Amino acid sequence: MDSMLKTLRSIVQHVAVHGDFADAVRALVTEVKQAVETDVCSIYLRSESRNGYVLAATDGLNTDQIGEVSLALDQGLVGLVGRRAEPINLEAAKRHPDYHFLPESGEEAFNAFLGVPIIHQRRVLGVLVVQQTASRRFDESEEAFLVTLAAQLASLVAHADAVGESAILPQRDGEDAQRRIREQNDTCFMGVAGSPGIAIGRAVVMHPVADLDAVPERETENVTQELLLLDRALESVRRDIRKINEEFESSLPKEELALFEAYLHMLDENALAGDIRARVQRGQWAQGALKQVIREHLDRFELMEDEYLRERGADVKDLGLRVLAYLQDIRDKKTVFPKDVVLVGDEVTPAMLANVTPERLRGIVSVKGSGNSHVAILARAMDIPAVMGALDLPAYDLEGETLLVDGHYGEVFRRPAEARLQQSRELIEQERIFDEELDELKELPCITRDGWRVQLWVNIGLSGDITRSLDRGAEGIGLFRTEIPFMSKDRFPTEAEQMSLYREHMTAFEPRPVTMRTLDIGGDKSLSYFPITEENPFLGWRGIRVTLDHPEIFLVQVRAMIKANAGLSGDLRIMLPMVSSAAELAAAKVLINQAYSEVLEEGADVKPPQVGVMIEVPAAVYQARLLAKEADFLAVGSNDLTQYMLAVDRNNPRVAELYQDVHPAVITALREVARAAHTEETGVGICGELAGTPAGAVLLMAMGYHVLSMNATHLPKVKWVIRNIKRSDARRMLAKVLRMDSAGEVNAFMHQQLSDAGLARVLPHHHD
Ligand code: PEP
Ligand code: MG
Repeated sequence: MDSMLKTLRSIVQHVAVHGDFADAVRALVTEVKQAVETDVCSIYLRSESRNGYVLAATDGLNTDQIGEVSLALDQGLVGLVGRRAEPINLEAAKRHPDYHFLPESGEEAFNAFLGVPIIHQRRVLGVLVVQQTASRRFDESEEAFLVTLAAQLASLVAHADAVGESAILPQRDGEDAQRRIREQNDTCFMGVAGSPGIAIGRAVVMHPVADLDAVPERETENVTQELLLLDRALESVRRDIRKINEEFESSLPKEELALFEAYLHMLDENALAGDIRARVQRGQWAQGALKQVIREHLDRFELMEDEYLRERGADVKDLGLRVLAYLQDIRDKKTVFPKDVVLVGDEVTPAMLANVTPERLRGIVSVKGSGNSHVAILARAMDIPAVMGALDLPAYDLEGETLLVDGHYGEVFRRPAEARLQQSRELIEQERIFDEELDELKELPCITRDGWRVQLWVNIGLSGDITRSLDRGAEGIGLFRTEIPFMSKDRFPTEAEQMSLYREHMTAFEPRPVTMRTLDIGGDKSLSYFPITEENPFLGWRGIRVTLDHPEIFLVQVRAMIKANAGLSGDLRIMLPMVSSAAELAAAKVLINQAYSEVLEEGADVKPPQVGVMIEVPAAVYQARLLAKEADFLAVGSNDLTQYMLAVDRNNPRVAELYQDVHPAVITALREVARAAHTEETGVGICGELAGTPAGAVLLMAMGYHVLSMNATHLPKVKWVIRNIKRSDARRMLAKVLRMDSAGEVNAFMHQQLSDAGLARVLPHHHD
């Protein structure tokens, strides 16, 4: 049984990479049949178009009936397993009232039946069945085994299902299903809304560190170009090896150095290089050809008796990876991008963003990650539509294809239909015109129709943010994510380096207030030169916890902040992330006072900074009054507060639906924090993403948040909404929202309210 699970895992992986679903299920039924020692194993898959379960694979029944025979949803034992969504294990199936005889499948002889549902995200996608002639009862361990298999099989089926029914069900007319999928247009892949807006462009696929298994097989249309890429990659690897050889020449014994010779021989035209070239000439792309050749060699090495020779397989693999890295590097570091890039990757990282010429970047699609991953936050800051967590997207097959990215709804369309493209172009144009109109609000204050004033500030961290923010009328900086400049270095930046960067911002924003957050690393934000490895990073050494443990880092940063503000009229506000007790605030204040005194002693003309606390942890909500009394201001980090209140990882697409920024518990907590601050007469703001949404901004304004800090991109729309609404109306909405039971209800209600108030233009439009 153990080995069976291993086999399954390898099939699942194999298919996830190659998309060869039919092969995988064929192998699977045979393996299961053997493992359970039975006469038949079959997979039935749910077909929407045939409104039932279709036989998709079998070992034991009539294989001619694959794709032909089907059972209605309420028919037979298979239908019953589907309806009940639980296993059914029978000794004598024929005697069961739901038994339905399918003569054409050749199943008349079978008695014992065990069917388990294949369920993905609460949906029954199919049924895995084993049957046997003899009357026997499949035992509990066999049942448990099948349940385990079906659970693993489910994500595989879901993945194939996402590319269309033809991918999972063999076609009745016998057409090659795989070919049909490839030709299928206008397929929608669901993800999570990452950054709003609609984009149309060509997919440019980014790869993580080289992984031969992840390379898809693909035909090339341009053999000459692939050969050129191959030559460049091979030459680069040869050059690297010669260089290593030279470096080690004096220190390594001759026998060891011979290894490098051997490497060069292996790369020779008579060996690997020639084999790879021949395959490219036959039409395979270079990466696929490389993978095939390396695989074949590895297989041969594995069969060798001699241990030494078997070990040489590792060298071949190493060489293969070196060549692959160059092939992908050459592709990924393309200097010539199409003029409308949609960046696609299994996990798009901020570093990948940096590779693309910003003027050409239209959209981002990432298989992993979620709406609050930092890449999504950066995308919003850059005003680039993004879809995150598109788990079923075959990212590595999309190079060069046209994609439509709907960042409002988290949808990606592969090869969108012309009508959809046309509709989207119109929506993009409408958004552009609206943005132009909003430009006129730039100099106007953010004030409701009944005279309530709210400050709209910006969240900042990327270079280029200053102009973008001032252009959109930002009245201050509400959150400077100082860790971002720390990330682009290979050591901690010095006090002088930090000071010059901070001063640049403070000068540009003078006389507006600037809120500098102290280093917030840990969680999903790591510094390559200060690695933190933990089981539960979000519950671990994060934010203020790290910096209080390292006063030398904290003091340097705070001194840089205070000095950067010297002689300027704007207020410096220092903000502490991840505070979970008043003791942390007290300890940080001692250090900040120390830094301030030191800077004063050095003779600088500086004012004492204000010190504020971020409310990001539920404990801080319950201690908000105490913190408000001790701090100069409170600022809610609703991104983290939501994740900690709802126990939902902000980066995990599987639970993205549970990450609800207007969950009644979150709304109540936000209101409590505002009240606590009001009671203590302390300023209160919010700098999580919620502040930048029209509905969120209205509710927060109603709660009495003085400062809403958001991406510069969202600022004009939020200003427009607030200028077009009365606070008294907003407070009525809030009163109703506070009585609601679910985030869905809150969203629907706010959507309706904004539409009724004539503000539908800020709400995203959906494709027909
Ligand atoms: C937050 O958690 O809401 C916040 C503003 O901080 P960050 O997104 O950088 O964690
Ligand atoms: Mg945070």
